[in-house]
Amino acid sequence: MKSIINYIKNKYLIILGVLIVAFFIFINVFYFKGPLIVFIGKNVITTEVHSKYIDDNNYKFLFFDNELHDKVLKISNVNLDKLGEYNIDYTLYLDNKEVKRRRKVKVVDTTKPDLVLKDQENSVACPNGNYIEQGYEANDNYDGDITSKVKITKKGDTWTYTIKDTSGNKEEKVRNIVRKDETAPVITLKTTNTKIYRGTTFTEPGYTAIDNCDGDITDKVKVDGKVNTSSTGKYTLTYTVTDSHDNNTVVTREVEVVNQTIYLTNTIYLTFDDGPSYLTSQYLDILKKYNVKATFFINDKGYYDQVKRMHNEGNVVANHTASHNFAGIYSSTTAFWNDFNKLNATIKNITGVDNKLFRFPGGSSNTVSRQYNRGIMTQLVKEANAKGLVYFDWNVDSNDAGGTTTADGVYRNVVNSLSHSRANIVLMHEGKNYTLNALSRIIEFGINNGYNFATLNESSATAHHGVNN
Ligand SMILES: [Zn+2]
Repeated sequence: MKSIINYIKNKYLIILGVLIVAFFIFINVFYFKGPLIVFIGKNVITTEVHSKYIDDNNYKFLFFDNELHDKVLKISNVNLDKLGEYNIDYTLYLDNKEVKRRRKVKVVDTTKPDLVLKDQENSVACPNGNYIEQGYEANDNYDGDITSKVKITKKGDTWTYTIKDTSGNKEEKVRNIVRKDETAPVITLKTTNTKIYRGTTFTEPGYTAIDNCDGDITDKVKVDGKVNTSSTGKYTLTYTVTDSHDNNTVVTREVEVVNQTIYLTNTIYLTFDDGPSYLTSQYLDILKKYNVKATFFINDKGYYDQVKRMHNEGNVVANHTASHNFAGIYSSTTAFWNDFNKLNATIKNITGVDNKLFRFPGGSSNTVSRQYNRGIMTQLVKEANAKGLVYFDWNVDSNDAGGTTTADGVYRNVVNSLSHSRANIVLMHEGKNYTLNALSRIIEFGINNGYNFATLNESSATAHHGVNN
């Protein structure tokens, strides 16, 4: 009971003491020292570097008029862009009294640096190789570019990138390296679109195969295909390579075997179209007598024994289409090649030769074909070249299928057109008596004037007229 009374007595004594002290402070502060500047908010302000902290006069006066506000002198050395501790001093001069208050501003950096790993989502390395660093960047809001300070800790295929700025703010990124090889090797061919002449030797121009994981695997390349240099045409070589993780690469090389045209000057190529006929044996007798060989552009007209004889005696049997029927062969390219192939099969049967030589009925410059199919000659020439076939026109015309119907006329037409400075491809026709009767004299003229006689082949001059349809 007594202790409770003591407690109450003490409590009042404490309150009385506090009131007395408060009274003296009040007198001391407001009477002798002037009004008290009271901050709104904390006495010590902490703000982020580069922030926009503004101390907007956020203070007031206890028990005094706020008109004093304007009389406060404020001096600040705060630099928000530089780490450090700064002061804002507030001073009020009033009736010879000086009232001072200081606020502290701490400019700090609590922002983590920005760390970026390049290719982080796709960090792939060869199963048997090293991961090649794809790069990273570290930028700090205060320190700037601190990429050079990034530390990399490697634990197997887990690489940890750590960066700390000067204020100790830390950022960390992890790169998980995946082991796989899905990249195919690269085959590089030394040259492309090789063109070589018929009869020459094809030499592989060379190649390399480089793989991202295996390195140089050139020795693993398999080459398929063959170039037959004895026959014109396009050949495809296929290069295949597989790396040790089953990635496969295939590339092809096209090699074209072409004819090299050899222009034999001072030469006569006798050519006879539209045979064989009942006169063929007599043509052959004359050629044999002078030991001169000719080229026969035949149709499929029977007389196979005569065709056989042409070949056996060193003449060349060439294709002038089986039917020689303009309306049929020039109706479509398919019709033309069907007709052509039929006769070529017959020629092969009789002579054993895979014939590649032909003459278009009417020549390549004919315009008759236009009435059956516009542009067919252009198309046929293109296709013939693609097939490796060689077609011939002429540069000496006996006119024996034109207006000339006498042996004298045929003879004159031919010999007057011959020239020593070129290959002379002479157009004549079989089955005509006047041509047959002119042949001996034409051959004798040639021999007496120093000409050579030859048969056409894939490398001969072709005397092309040019296509008009
Ligand atoms: Zn003809």
